Amino acid sequence: MRDQASIVRQISLGCLSGNKTFEFDEQHDRTKPIRMWFQESTEGLVLFVVFYTQACRWSRCLGCCLPSACSQFPVMYRDILKQIDFVFNDPEVRGRQQNIRKLIVSNNGSVLDQATFSSTALIYLVLQSNLHFPNLSVFSIETRVEYVEVEELEFLARVLGEGDTPTELELAVGFEAFDDHIRNGVMKKGLSTQVFERFVASTVKYRFRLKCYLMQKPVPGMTDEEGVKDVHDAIDYFSRLSGGETTAGKPHVHIGIHVNPTYAAKGTLLEKAFLDGTYTPPTLRDVARATLHAKDRPLSVFIGLSDEDLAIPGGSFIRPGDEKKLKDLEMFNKTQDYDILRVVAE
Ligand code: SF4
Repeated sequence: MRDQASIVRQISLGCLSGNKTFEFDEQHDRTKPIRMWFQESTEGLVLFVVFYTQACRWSRCLGCCLPSACSQFPVMYRDILKQIDFVFNDPEVRGRQQNIRKLIVSNNGSVLDQATFSSTALIYLVLQSNLHFPNLSVFSIETRVEYVEVEELEFLARVLGEGDTPTELELAVGFEAFDDHIRNGVMKKGLSTQVFERFVASTVKYRFRLKCYLMQKPVPGMTDEEGVKDVHDAIDYFSRLSGGETTAGKPHVHIGIHVNPTYAAKGTLLEKAFLDGTYTPPTLRDVARATLHAKDRPLSVFIGLSDEDLAIPGGSFIRPGDEKKLKDLEMFNKTQDYDILRVVAE
């Protein structure tokens, strides 16, 4: 039995270290996920589910208020099983279950952290996916890399392989910023390039896919141009990595990047910087300029277009008049047609 008090303490200390001022959501119905929604991608219909669990144990990344939608205390596995049942009984999910090609599993933290997301629940989720999503091709798990145990994943991949359609396992990790100083010194991500590359090398043998989250302009003090350049640098880096150039081996790995424009999240230093005028979120035009750099690279690209209602008023990267750009970027996500990006970037 884990020391639950120490995990609660760890979360508090993380928040303290990241200067977070938000409260956790202890009122949420524990038998329902935080959110779920559909996306369209080149892979087809995607179902994204964020389960309600105990918060991320790290909790200190500068602009992140995702833990505020979670509990600071343990959410028992029986409740998470009920959340899974809720997903599979949802009328919209049932209506589209034959078409769902990808399932993204999140808990606003690390699904592979057994202290916050029960292993029983994860196995049950894979089982239900096999039973209800006959055309699933990718099962994607969001996690920090320190919780990845490849033996556990090998087992999960085997179970997924017993579904009606071959289903690949994808690990979705936050890399956030290419610049080491921004990522670790300012943002407090706690992820060195060496650790990340060791993680990549360890997953290659199993042919797991990787999804790497990037944040555009994630911290105060960065100019718009620096935000664009950091995404360019990350695209160059991931292109090299997917082709086999690392310091820790020679992986050939399927990498997708997910570029999230940063928003001023409630209860974080970004909120403070936004309110005192020292931070503005990137524009959708700059997001298009940044991601255009991935044209002809061996990477799939998805642009995150939701602030999940976690931005403070006026603090989103979506501004009045952005409706057409939003539609265009959604179309890019669905088609990977770089001509669309070029128009948005003009
Ligand atoms: S970005 Fe991820 S790892 Fe960092 S505090 Fe937020 S949920 Fe935790």
